[in-house]
Amino acid sequence: MTDCIFCKIAHGEIPCRKLYEDGEMLAFHDINPVAPVHFMLIPKLHLASLAEAEDAHAALLGRMLVLSPRLAREQGLENGFRTVINTGKGGGQEVFHLHIHIIGGGNIPPMVRRS
Ligand code: 5GP
Ligand code: ZN
Repeated sequence: MTDCIFCKIAHGEIPCRKLYEDGEMLAFHDINPVAPVHFMLIPKLHLASLAEAEDAHAALLGRMLVLSPRLAREQGLENGFRTVINTGKGGGQEVFHLHIHIIGGGNIPPMVRRS
């Protein structure tokens, strides 16, 4: 995906504040954090969103979820954290390369405000 920002980050073509990398995934700090700790975990494989995930991706997605608490702890989030995956325009997704937001520290408000 030549014009995908996160593919470019994964290939080292755009700099990022990396906090984890292995052969199949990469974690880096969000450029515009919403909390004291806010980073993203992405697969190196270009998958536009969770809506494009298939059975073949299940193991990779599982490994990403299992890695998340370890990375959160390493960033000092001993008390817990929020994971968010925005999917599609209806889910508020802005970058169309699947990513898990990992957010914590400070005051984390309720996920959805009730009126
Ligand atoms: P989405 O709304 O798609 O779930 O979230 C996209 C996130 O990517 C946003 O929180 C935004 O701040 C972050 N982001 C967008 N462009 C860049 C970038 O070039 N570098 C980094 N580190 N984060 C980015
Ligand atoms: Zn991509």
